[in-house]
Amino acid sequence: MSEKRDYYAVLEVARTATADEIKKSYRRLARVYHPDVNREDGADEHFKEINEAYEVLSDSDRRARYDQFGHAANGMGGDPFGGGSPFGDGSPFGDIFDTFFGASNGGRRRPTVQRGQDLEVTVRLSFEEAVFGAEKMVELTRLETCEVCSGKRQKDGQEPPRCQTCGGSGEVRQVQQTILGQFMTSAPCRTCHGEGVQITDPCTNCKGRGRVTRLRNITVNIPAGIDESATLRMSGQGEAGPQGGVPGNLYVKVQIQSHELFTRQNKTIHLQIGINVAQAALGDEIDIDTIDGVVSLKIPAGTQSGQQFRLRGRGVPDMRGGDRGDQIVTVQVVVPRELSPEQEDLFNQLAESLGSEVTQQPHRRGFLEKMKDAIGV
Ligand SMILES: [Zn+2]
Ligand SMILES: [Zn+2]
Repeated sequence: MSEKRDYYAVLEVARTATADEIKKSYRRLARVYHPDVNREDGADEHFKEINEAYEVLSDSDRRARYDQFGHAANGMGGDPFGGGSPFGDGSPFGDIFDTFFGASNGGRRRPTVQRGQDLEVTVRLSFEEAVFGAEKMVELTRLETCEVCSGKRQKDGQEPPRCQTCGGSGEVRQVQQTILGQFMTSAPCRTCHGEGVQITDPCTNCKGRGRVTRLRNITVNIPAGIDESATLRMSGQGEAGPQGGVPGNLYVKVQIQSHELFTRQNKTIHLQIGINVAQAALGDEIDIDTIDGVVSLKIPAGTQSGQQFRLRGRGVPDMRGGDRGDQIVTVQVVVPRELSPEQEDLFNQLAESLGSEVTQQPHRRGFLEKMKDAIGV
């Protein structure tokens, strides 16, 4: 800003003006130059100047010091608003504020600080990794707080100055004249977009954005027993919040690859095996693959195709700490397609011994047969 103008000249009043005259003149000028009303070049600056002048001249002590020492009395170039809003205590709008915003408002509002965005990644897991848990690395591009300015956006991380238009509240109040009288409306400050601060000297690292894009490798601990319905939350690992707000979360989804032998249904692992007719008829003890390695399973004599056996505790661990699931082994009796001459001999003997009697299986009538019955064909 150029050379400071005389506060009386700014408010267009005489040096002998009464407090009431100063107040009246300020109200008139504030309405004319309010940046939400007046879009002319320089109106903004003028409005700030008016507020600064009024801040001093409306306070009898400060006015007396100003009369004696001029601008030097006004706090050595410090904050012209004395830390408050331009409509702070003693504002001529105070009574209107009290009516429309409640007495507790006091014309101040903390600018809202936004939380950072949540992010989502999908991690591919092998069947075993999902069962036993794993430590996986995910590559992630995210916005992080600028390390040079610590998200302050101002050069060298200095505290950005309070927005002069709204005095740091992030909103401006506008007086509207209606036939019912004066109305106060509030809207986000256009100068600072509601942030309450102005970046006058932007940080060169983030170009005044406060955040920078970074490629990160993040270690994700996959708990044993996870399935595709689960989403892991990594608190605070999302994007940094703008203006130093709380970072968002990182949500991790998993995609589990299929296994060549096993299938999974919640905590149960399924395996299909084939046994030959002799094993089915006579019983056997066979090796079975489980997720923990090979175990032995007793097949009883007379096992039928489709029969299932349960291996307790050979399933998937409970992600929440309960018991491990089981493995279910489904047996198929495989009839040989080709026989050696010796096997053919043996089957012939077997055939003679078993005879050619056909067992009657209970028949389940199909839809078509029921239809035929119904229409009497
Ligand atoms: Zn920066
Ligand atoms: Zn502002």
